[in-house]
Amino acid sequence: MNKRAFLVIFIVVIFLPFARGLDDGLLIKINGIYENMSGHYEINGDVSFVLKDRNIGSAEAKRYPFGNYVIVLDSNKLVDVDGVELEGMLAHELAHLESYSEMSFPGFLLFAIKYGLYSDFQRETERETDMNAIDKGFGKELLAFREYRLNTASEKEIEILKKNYLSIEEIKALIR
Ligand SMILES: [Zn+2]
Repeated sequence: MNKRAFLVIFIVVIFLPFARGLDDGLLIKINGIYENMSGHYEINGDVSFVLKDRNIGSAEAKRYPFGNYVIVLDSNKLVDVDGVELEGMLAHELAHLESYSEMSFPGFLLFAIKYGLYSDFQRETERETDMNAIDKGFGKELLAFREYRLNTASEKEIEILKKNYLSIEEIKALIR
């Protein structure tokens, strides 16, 4: 085995369990935060969390046909995120789930199609979801998370954040 291949394998073997440990840590942390926040939201089913790489965005709220809900998190985009920032992220995602949970399943499918097709509808949904998170009392946390994302996201993601979500100034004005 040449030296370089050995070095690469050595580094992977050493750091893989460490990376997994970080992921497990994030899931434990997010479940704990969810326990504390779930009382603020009416969601008629189980909520679970999975980690998966995402192209755009750090989290996605999903509804499945049999009354279960999943929040997908991209741990690569949540490196160094703190507890308050995670609360802000969750405040937004749980607001999505609460609104999904008010829809019939066919109604939800229609919503998902509209969301995929119309950028205006996407923008309206995301801004409304931000406002719902603030109404729930998580304005400061949402602000912290939005600031985190604007400081760490890719240029393409920042463009989408600015286009579809409440701005820092708008969130601050709504908290007051
Ligand atoms: Zn959203």
